[in-house]
Amino acid sequence: LKIVVEKPPIPVSYGPAFEGERVRKEDSFIEFGGQKTPAFEWVRMMEASEVEDEKVEIIGTDWQNRYEQGGRMPLGIIVKVAGKKMQKDFEPVIERQIHTFINEAEGLWHIGQRDINWIRISKKAKQAGIRLEHLGLIIMSMTKARFRSIVDRVEVLLYVDEKDVLTLREEARQEYRRRDLRLARLTDEEVDEFYSCLLCQSFAPKHVCVITPERPGLCGAFTWLDAKASYEIEPTGGNQPVEKGKLIDPVYGRYSGVDEYVKKHSGGEIQTINLYSIMENPMTSCGCFECIVAVTPEANGVLIVNRGYSGMTPIGMKFSTIAGMIGGGVQTPGFMGVGVNYITSRKFLKGDGGIRRVVWMPKELKERIKDSFQKRAEEEGVPELFQKIADETVCEDIECLINYLSKVGHPALQMEPIIK
Ligand code: SF4
Ligand code: ZN
Repeated sequence: LKIVVEKPPIPVSYGPAFEGERVRKEDSFIEFGGQKTPAFEWVRMMEASEVEDEKVEIIGTDWQNRYEQGGRMPLGIIVKVAGKKMQKDFEPVIERQIHTFINEAEGLWHIGQRDINWIRISKKAKQAGIRLEHLGLIIMSMTKARFRSIVDRVEVLLYVDEKDVLTLREEARQEYRRRDLRLARLTDEEVDEFYSCLLCQSFAPKHVCVITPERPGLCGAFTWLDAKASYEIEPTGGNQPVEKGKLIDPVYGRYSGVDEYVKKHSGGEIQTINLYSIMENPMTSCGCFECIVAVTPEANGVLIVNRGYSGMTPIGMKFSTIAGMIGGGVQTPGFMGVGVNYITSRKFLKGDGGIRRVVWMPKELKERIKDSFQKRAEEEGVPELFQKIADETVCEDIECLINYLSKVGHPALQMEPIIK
């Protein structure tokens, strides 16, 4: 057994216990980003010859003094990685872990990602001896430790002059756009295999998440690319390839290979699932879904409620009540746990009529997905759909909802019955 020490050489404690710790404004010594100074983080795959392994370099003028003064600084983080098994598609997967790597250090705090990242170092951590280069050291050593099966060389560059950060941020933004376009173009039809996630079987033993390019895991933590990367990194881990087999039903999203896999890994409990339906053999839910989709028969559509919304929904139940009914890895037609990003997928409830079925969402969720929802609605030929979706400021009960939907002419009312 090879024991790998997963702790960077820093003068503060390190581990998952510190992940949830916040560094409040009044406790912070210095901060980077958070829309207050320009910042970004960007993982780039390079040739081995272009990466000086285990090097951390700070690039800027008079940075030692500026850091010692505290307050705020611009920060551009570039992580150069190389490895025989490294793939371009893994860049965002590693990049997203920067969040965890930094948060696991006591007195360090990180939120956001890409060019909306925000990092704080607490006064206590500064007193304990945290220097600017420790940020780079943490990222360098943890990338090497956690991604050792795909990454052989890591170099971290920290840019702290505003001019540099602004220029490089433009380059990074172009790369973020290229990535998003690539993910948006990946379809379920186009790939050879899907991936499973069995991590939640520890508490929902029959639950299998089937993760496809157009349907992320329901906790929001795994996209298809994440699952693929995680399989490459740890072939015997919780994410396994699922052969698609024969496409039995393209509208409902039923594949022979998926059925076989789910049957086997649910201990024979689940015979078949439709990836794109909430009504007919939907995917099971474990318990950590970001959102719940619930059929609202009177409105001939569905409502979606996000975790964190504690108010009432028009079906007379709160998130917590519905969550208690549908978890545990069983199929519950009419209810389904989903990841936020599935809502704006082209495969969202495709078998039941798609995005036009959405009649109600909490305001907070609406705001969060507004742009991508609007894009999808336009694609579907219902550009005014978003405005017609009610939220808690319009109504929290079913009668009021129906009245509102009739008044605005919500398209769900004209569709064929959702319950056949
Ligand atoms: Fe994996 Fe998330 Fe699904 Fe759990 S909910 S099985 S962690 S993808
Ligand atoms: Zn789960």
